[in-house]
Amino acid sequence: MMSEKASGTGKVYLVGAGPGDPGLITVKGLECVRTADVIVYDRLIGRDILDEARSDAELIYCGKGPGNHALTQEQINAVLVEKAAEGKVVCRLKGGDPFVFGRGGEEALELVAHGLPFEVVPGVTSAIAAGAYAGIPVTHRGVVTSFTVATGHEDATKEESSLAWRNLAQAGGTLVVLMGVGQLAAIVPELIAGGKSPETPVALVAWATHPQQKTMVSTLENVAADAQASGVRPPAVMIVGDVVALREQLAWIEDRPLFGRRVLVTRTREQASELSALLRVYGATPVEMPVIRLVPPETWEPFDAAVRRAESYDWLVFTSANGVKSARERLEETGLDLRALKGPRIAAIGPKTAAAACAVGLRVDACPEEYVAESLVAALEGEGLAGKRVLLLRAAEARTTFPDMARDLGAEVDVVSVYRTLPVDEPDARALGMLESGDVDAVTFASSSSVRNFAEAVGLDRVGPLLENVTVACLGPITAATAAELGLHVAVTPDEYTIEGLVEALVDHFASPDRRFTT
Ligand code: SAH
Repeated sequence: MMSEKASGTGKVYLVGAGPGDPGLITVKGLECVRTADVIVYDRLIGRDILDEARSDAELIYCGKGPGNHALTQEQINAVLVEKAAEGKVVCRLKGGDPFVFGRGGEEALELVAHGLPFEVVPGVTSAIAAGAYAGIPVTHRGVVTSFTVATGHEDATKEESSLAWRNLAQAGGTLVVLMGVGQLAAIVPELIAGGKSPETPVALVAWATHPQQKTMVSTLENVAADAQASGVRPPAVMIVGDVVALREQLAWIEDRPLFGRRVLVTRTREQASELSALLRVYGATPVEMPVIRLVPPETWEPFDAAVRRAESYDWLVFTSANGVKSARERLEETGLDLRALKGPRIAAIGPKTAAAACAVGLRVDACPEEYVAESLVAALEGEGLAGKRVLLLRAAEARTTFPDMARDLGAEVDVVSVYRTLPVDEPDARALGMLESGDVDAVTFASSSSVRNFAEAVGLDRVGPLLENVTVACLGPITAATAAELGLHVAVTPDEYTIEGLVEALVDHFASPDRRFTT
């Protein structure tokens, strides 16, 4: 992709973005999104994928939805031609696969007509993914050996179209219909007239692979009425055939404990990914809204000086993975490496900090069982603290519990900051919008400063009402106390103060005997 840019020739990539779950775009498709000069995207393309675009990329929305065309097909074609002719690398991003009812073929023909180069990057089509995420395989050994994908968009009352539906009914195999929810009343009688049994199982999968995925199961004779009664709206895929019954055993996504839950992650961008990934494992959709960012300390002088006398310390204590990272970066910046920390033994406040130390090549000599300052003191005290010199490397604005306690036990403690946490300039607009519209189920806070900064970011008087119907989860008791001080009702605090513990506590909180949507 880079080579075309270098040669100054424009090109259009017709890219399938997949059906919604941002994990379902292909590696090649994602690379196109990340490198394109211009992204021309459709209505159902998720924000997560668009966020991958270069910050200077031009994003053009062409929002084709039923009865609502931000740009006509001719205008879209013209944009693609114009941008490619200007020498731009264009990513034409479409839902599902570009050649499955995506008008990708028409756009490609237009480019051919103008002598402009293009490539097609296939995508995961909703025609297959909807079944996959609803626990319905489109083919199944011993049940069915073929499937047909049809559009329900054509006017089913037209003579030729009615014939086509009857022929499809006779073709046997699984029938998958896209864009058909609005046409059920017209399509279904033709399928029955074509020979499909009225009892044939039918599934409607709406918003497949999105957090709001819903599946409705019915039969051919009842589906139109059932769909109307349960208010199924597009986008939805209809699957007609005996394979639908497999869902009884194979529904997997809706059974995950946090399925459909949107969980706000307030950690820094750097730290969010671990929590977000774990939330996804349980079926939740993480919404990242960083409220703090990490910056270097106001001055490095105390750190640099402490490093120069490193050998005079008995203990070097890290209280976060950030502290480890930051200290190491500063050493590098000043032309040093970890050998400069030779001498003291090393303590870490918890397993993540210890792992971070380990990852940069530092062996950790002490790490308490419980991840609070009090336990760290206890861990070091076992080795005797009286008269010991301790260097504590941490955030500028942390609690003073550890140094106070260690000093009480006779230690000499130097507290040196290796980073500062500052509030973000502005809360993430999309996350805030979701909170305001009640689309967030839970919010997670991993530190007191994140609760405080969150409250300040959204407004101290607004934070209570905004989180009234949101489950507030705090990593540990100190964080929970800060949340309570700010007037929040904390519903979840884990027994174990780790990210894993937090997610498991959320799972327990939301556990209910039947989370499967059936209507
Ligand atoms: N090229 C797309 C289809 C475009 S036509 C693809 O390969 O998936 C638009 C139709 O696709 C919608 O009306 C709906 O029937 C279906 N569709 C697309 N995304 C969907 C989703 N996430 N869930 C259910 N149906 C979807």
